[in-house]
Amino acid sequence: SSEHVFMVTSTGTVFLCWDFYILGIKFSILYVCFLQWEEVSIMDEKNIPIRTYQVCNVLEPNQNNWLRTDWIPRSGAQRVYVEVKFTLRDCNSLPGVTGTCKETFNLYYHESNEDRESYIKESSFIKVDTVAADESFTQVDVGDRIMKLNTEVRDVKVTTRKGFYLAFQDVGACIALVSVRVFYKTCPLTIRNLATFPDTVTGADTSSLVEVRGSCVNQSEEREEPKMYCGADGEWLVPIGGCVCNPGYEEKGGACKACSVGFYKARSSDAGCSKCPPHSHSLRDGATVCDCHSGFFRANSDPPSMACTQPPSAPQQLISVVNETSVVLEWAPPRRLGGRSDTSYSLECLICQTGSHSQTSSRSCLACGSDVLFSPGQTGLKTTRVVVSELRAHTHYTFIIHARNGVSQASGAGAAQSVAVTVTTNQAVPSLVSSIQATDVTRHSLSLSWQQPDRPNGVILEYEVKFYEKDQRERSYRIMRTFSRSADVTGLKPLTVYVFHVRARTAAGYGEFSAPYEFSTNSDPFPLIGEGVNSAFLLLSVSGVGILLLITAAVFIISRRRSKYSKTKQDSEEEKHLNPGVKIYVDPFTYEDPDQAIHEFAKEIDVSSIHIERVIGVGEFGEVCSGRLRVQGKREIYVAIKSLKAGYSDKQRRDFLSEASIMGQFDHPNIIRLEGVVTRCKPLMIITEYMENGSLDAFLRKHDGQFTVIQLVGMLRGIASGMKYLSDMSYVHRDLAARNILVNSNLVCKVSDFGLSRVLEDDPEAAYTARIPIRWTAPEAIAYRKFTTASDVWSYGIVMWEVVSYGERPYWDMNNQDVIKAIEEGYRLPAPMDCPVVLHQLMLDCWERERAERPSFSQILNMLDKLIRNPGTLRRTGGDRNKYNTILPEVCVPEWSVCEWLQSIGLERYRDTLAAAGYTSLESLLALTHQEMDRLGIITPTHQDILISSVQQEMLSQMQHMQHTMVPV
Ligand code: AMP
Repeated sequence: SSEHVFMVTSTGTVFLCWDFYILGIKFSILYVCFLQWEEVSIMDEKNIPIRTYQVCNVLEPNQNNWLRTDWIPRSGAQRVYVEVKFTLRDCNSLPGVTGTCKETFNLYYHESNEDRESYIKESSFIKVDTVAADESFTQVDVGDRIMKLNTEVRDVKVTTRKGFYLAFQDVGACIALVSVRVFYKTCPLTIRNLATFPDTVTGADTSSLVEVRGSCVNQSEEREEPKMYCGADGEWLVPIGGCVCNPGYEEKGGACKACSVGFYKARSSDAGCSKCPPHSHSLRDGATVCDCHSGFFRANSDPPSMACTQPPSAPQQLISVVNETSVVLEWAPPRRLGGRSDTSYSLECLICQTGSHSQTSSRSCLACGSDVLFSPGQTGLKTTRVVVSELRAHTHYTFIIHARNGVSQASGAGAAQSVAVTVTTNQAVPSLVSSIQATDVTRHSLSLSWQQPDRPNGVILEYEVKFYEKDQRERSYRIMRTFSRSADVTGLKPLTVYVFHVRARTAAGYGEFSAPYEFSTNSDPFPLIGEGVNSAFLLLSVSGVGILLLITAAVFIISRRRSKYSKTKQDSEEEKHLNPGVKIYVDPFTYEDPDQAIHEFAKEIDVSSIHIERVIGVGEFGEVCSGRLRVQGKREIYVAIKSLKAGYSDKQRRDFLSEASIMGQFDHPNIIRLEGVVTRCKPLMIITEYMENGSLDAFLRKHDGQFTVIQLVGMLRGIASGMKYLSDMSYVHRDLAARNILVNSNLVCKVSDFGLSRVLEDDPEAAYTARIPIRWTAPEAIAYRKFTTASDVWSYGIVMWEVVSYGERPYWDMNNQDVIKAIEEGYRLPAPMDCPVVLHQLMLDCWERERAERPSFSQILNMLDKLIRNPGTLRRTGGDRNKYNTILPEVCVPEWSVCEWLQSIGLERYRDTLAAAGYTSLESLLALTHQEMDRLGIITPTHQDILISSVQQEMLSQMQHMQHTMVPV
């Protein structure tokens, strides 16, 4: 029922408070105890007076004497250490002390924000420890006594208030407190790994580590966050991370010092300052990079440790090889690489006008288009070879190769290190034809049109259309050629898918065929009249009044026009479409390199296989010899050998070989055949088939009057056939004359001498020179060089006259001017002696002033064929100057009757039979059947067949003729 409370003051006064209760009423008694700790001055071992607190109530029991410190500020400390030095009397050394004597005292603390607490409850103090005297103690003289001085240290966590009080409780010992030292521990300021760590108070617990972040020293930067731990006993532990000196500085004695002159440090991570690399220097302390010497450079990507370098010199030994429209460029690396290994090349492509290149007139050059391809590339090249392709044909290009390295840009001299070459591309085959379209599709035909190739690479001479039924694949295909970008394809099957490919040809040859384009014919049952052969046949095969009417109309028109030749085939240059499968002559002069043409069209013959026997004539370029040619694997043949005499000019060589290039394109029994050429050794030779009877004019003169008219017409037929072939190939001879016709042992005449074709065209002044064969040449060709197949027809008329007159000179001894004048005035050569009227009429037709009025070679050929089949027509000679079609044998009246037609097919024997049966017109004969003919007594099957097919053919040809003349062009 009572409680007593001690109150301890700073001076050690102890109040005893005692509360008690009587009948529930509280009574309090307060005792003031007297000091038990005494402050006593004593001398220390050095005889210096020191103050001590002493207590020694060992004789009385229940001692509780307190001694308390003033308030001690914590000053941020979390754990304080209390070092107590004291002496303690050994109870045994005190006589008469029993039971009550103690040899320990207690240490207390009390945390507080109050620095002036007067009274603190005893219970507010927390015991730190009971302190006993240590074994080892120092002896201290205290007056007449020698005392053993103990030193004890205790630590205590003080974290809750700003400060604290300490108290010492004596419980009956004999003690003298000599000193009490209160302290806390710090880890001292330090520099580790270029980071400064401040003086740091240790942690609250004995095991605690205070993490401390360091800060980098001057001119340094953090490499990794610098950290250390401050241990409870003031030791730095576990350093982590640290700092590194900034660029231009290096570590010396825990600090960062500037690099000296001539040295540099580029990165903070570098170990230390380094000497400047070659061709560079630093003029100030603390350099992070060394500057390049004048004339030396550093690329942005170059590390500062790299030597300074220079741009490369120009590439060397640039060579170019032109292959059609590609150019291969190769060069050697520059002589000086400037101390680097990153040389690269770029290629500049310019199209330049003739004679200009970059050095002289760069303004006349334009950059090549983006369609030019560079392999492996145009810029950043590491190799010294580039293939430039897809260039334009026949174009001057300048290629500039620039050498660069990493410092070219920095040096500002990138463009100077270059080498240039100028080339001219060759001719090349055209690129692909594209966008093929079909229009006007019918059952049997369609019209194709297409785009010109992107890169024609020259003048397009013709297009070739290849087509086949899709189902047939390419097992069987047809080819047709045309000058224009369109073609009418006829003779197709209805409702059939066809595959078309088109390719273009220039002087350099054919390009690739286009991709396949598929078109289907349709099933329109009524095709247009202009559709082509099959539809015409279809028309003919369907009998009916309407069709017969049509035919009748056709015959009517034909009969009205028969007096004049159809002119649609006269002007080959105006002709837009060619017959399918007909080849076109290629002018060798369109080849820049004459040797290319010659090797395309003529075979090179090894001179050792030629055996020359004798001279047979003299040509424009030299002797003509006969001899033998033995080509391996073939039988030996007789040949004529024309050679080019020594000392020839380039032009002569070109002209000489051009004849072979032309001749080599022809393949016809009435055209002199080229066996080959010798161009690899001298003299240059042209080898042709040997024509035993030589030139026709000389041959006829030699055999004057010795041939029948039929033989002469046979010769003329051969020449006409050869000329038809040439005109079909769009070749204009320009020098057709009997002297240029060669005759073989079988009297076969062959057209030769293809040398004049260019000469006239190349020389505008040549029209009135001696080179023009005035007597053989049509007036429009003489007057304004209008050389066409029609002018060749004029010449053919003269050849006819030469032949029939056995080699007489046309216009005899008239001079050229008189001949021109006479022709101008309408004078024409009269019929030679014994000349069939029909032949002279044909000559006169050939000499029509209007070239469109002249017959075509095809018509001439037909005419001559008819004459040969009907020799009777040749019987009539002399006098009559009428048109040949009025001169008909009396057996057939009226003109162009069934009779005449039967004569032309050699079946005039059925004339009367058919006339008696009422077949008086050709169109009526279309109704002829085998049964009908059996009935009429025309029983020979071959004759029946000939009659049926010939009448159809004749009608068809008239139909086509009619269509041709009716359709506007
Ligand atoms: P050319 O240079 O073609 O005028 O030929 C000159 C002459 O050589 C001709 O007039 C012929 O007599 C003769 N001649 C040319 N070619 C042949 C040949 N293939 N066969 C026979 N004689 C020829």
